[in-house]
Amino acid sequence: MVGNPISQSKSPQIHSLFAKQTGQVLSYTTLEAPLGGFEKTVTHFRDSGAKGINITAPFKLDAFAYATHLTEGAKAAGAINCIKFEGSTSYGDNFDGVGLVRDITHNLGTAIKHQRVLILGAGGATRGALLPLLAHNPAAVVICNRSTEHAVQVASLAVTNPNIQIHICDYANLQAAGSFDVVIHATSASLHGQTLALPGAIFKQSALAYDLTYGKGMTWFLQQAQRAGAAKLADGVGMLVEQAAEAFSWWRGVRPQTQEVIKLLTVPLVT
Ligand code: NDP
Repeated sequence: MVGNPISQSKSPQIHSLFAKQTGQVLSYTTLEAPLGGFEKTVTHFRDSGAKGINITAPFKLDAFAYATHLTEGAKAAGAINCIKFEGSTSYGDNFDGVGLVRDITHNLGTAIKHQRVLILGAGGATRGALLPLLAHNPAAVVICNRSTEHAVQVASLAVTNPNIQIHICDYANLQAAGSFDVVIHATSASLHGQTLALPGAIFKQSALAYDLTYGKGMTWFLQQAQRAGAAKLADGVGMLVEQAAEAFSWWRGVRPQTQEVIKLLTVPLVT
């Protein structure tokens, strides 16, 4: 896994649990690349005989430019979080969105089909999530973002699925967007010590409130959702483990079980 910083990464733990479970021999470590030093670091790693690498912030765009071959999902997202090396060829994919959608539908048992979905934030994570979400045919998708220009850029990805209209709004107009079955928090506000005041009416009483942040217990987003009466609360640990499982199976040809690993990494959601 390459990133900067990288010491917080749980990926070595996740992949070593997967390797143990599936009987694979694997060495998975972290690399801190200097800012501006992605290409050199990753090429050196590839040339040392590595089979693949995961990419985290702030290098997902550098990785997109680095990969010699990209999947359609990766092209649409414009960012990748996983590379597979074959000689000097590097295949790039983005499993963040697939991991998110699998966690919502499979692990949390929440339907996306015919449901109203709100995404707060229009950064890399939302870019990766949009097409996998649309593939489940939601009734409506609204992207709310501080910069509506960024939201418009992300929504333009949806031209691949013209049947579903993507609506854009900013926080000042969020109240008017209505109420939602699934509300996904995908901003990095918390990383900057900031919070947002959300109108309680965006959460239907049956809603799933999903925070991409993980391992922090009840975040400000989850607390607001709880106060508004949202029925289900989840953080992004399941997404993290599910995207890792996608990468593992892409590299190794065997899909690990995720439930036990998610359980092990879960920090209880208590106030
Ligand atoms: P980006 O930096 O690409 O995007 C950040 C987004 O947050 C932008 O839409 C930005 O708005 C918005 N934002 C930042 N600060 C504020 C604020 N104060 N108020 C309102 N909006 C704000 O980040 P990512 O999309 O890569 O990641 C988003 C979050 O998801 C992070 O917390 C990250 O850790 C988490 N994540 C979790 C994963 C998991 O596996 N669980 C995987 C990937 C990400 P604007 O466009 O206006 O600048």
